[in-house]
Amino acid sequence: MTQPAWSAGGRAYEQHEGNVIFLLGGRLQTSRDNPLILLFTLALVFGGPIVWVAFEAHYVWTAISPAPLIIFAYVTLNAWASLVRTSFCDPGIIPRYLEDGDKPSEKSIVLTRVDDGGVAGSLETTIALQWCTTCHIYRPPRASHCRACNNCVDTIDHHCVFLNACIGRRNYAAFVSMLVHLFICIIISVVCSALHLYHVAHPTTDAQRSGTGSGFVYALRHEPQCIVFFWVGSVFLIPVSCLLTYHVWLITQNRTTIEQIRLEASGRIYDMERKDADCAENYACLRMCVRFSAWVRQFLVAPTIVSSSDKGNNKRRRSPFQRPHASQNAQAALGRAVPDVFMSWRDAPP
Ligand SMILES: [Zn+2]
Ligand SMILES: [Zn+2]
Repeated sequence: MTQPAWSAGGRAYEQHEGNVIFLLGGRLQTSRDNPLILLFTLALVFGGPIVWVAFEAHYVWTAISPAPLIIFAYVTLNAWASLVRTSFCDPGIIPRYLEDGDKPSEKSIVLTRVDDGGVAGSLETTIALQWCTTCHIYRPPRASHCRACNNCVDTIDHHCVFLNACIGRRNYAAFVSMLVHLFICIIISVVCSALHLYHVAHPTTDAQRSGTGSGFVYALRHEPQCIVFFWVGSVFLIPVSCLLTYHVWLITQNRTTIEQIRLEASGRIYDMERKDADCAENYACLRMCVRFSAWVRQFLVAPTIVSSSDKGNNKRRRSPFQRPHASQNAQAALGRAVPDVFMSWRDAPP
């Protein structure tokens, strides 16, 4: 039997065997997988708003209104905090060697379904727990082993290459918060840049006037940064809004990205067939966002992570975790409580 890390002495993180770099005495962490992309993301998310404020703040404050700038500062700070929380904090890594020995026996747990799954019969579902040969644990339902981080992560959504971290039970809410705030941040910068350009082309007050000329060509020559901010913002708005739409939809189903891919892979795209509650099918724009996100996602999620061992066995059309109403699902998805067993290992005595 292999002993838990902390029983050999020292801090638990120092003896952690995953592919993870720990910083500041184990308070922060990031995957060893590809820290360079994380640096690029940090430069973009921290640098972008600073550059925009440096060029546009004065004009927005004096010629438009202080309000957009104050809101911009607020959402940017929230986006930064959410990014750090998502990228550098524990996504829900399940400690290794929780079992006494190597795969002692087959294990399955009985879950009471939160609805009837659209099928008449028992409300109880039996889920066989999968043994992780790397972590030496039985994975709880909804957990998966991330190859990039070499950890099992509880309620894993996906491994984000741009944040160089898993998105799981503990940081999913922060991830969604980051998307929401980035979305608002980009909208404000794009709209204000467009207004700046429009005002310079057709000034009606002295504050809006920039120099002596007017017209669109004059505005482009005189304030070229506006069109750069407008286009760059618009380009980033597309993936951010698609990702946000996709996750809002997943949240209303209480489903993770990996679960959705597994369902699609096994030919059970059940929610697409349901008539109630599925707004994604009713609006062409939403449907397009969801499909575009699914297409982008194929480049980001390794095929190995989505292979499901129970392919085709389960005839039910909803997961046991899906509630009948979108609001209940959202509450469950964003407020996932961390089980006690995952809290105890951090504070375990040496
Ligand atoms: Zn594992
Ligand atoms: Zn990962």
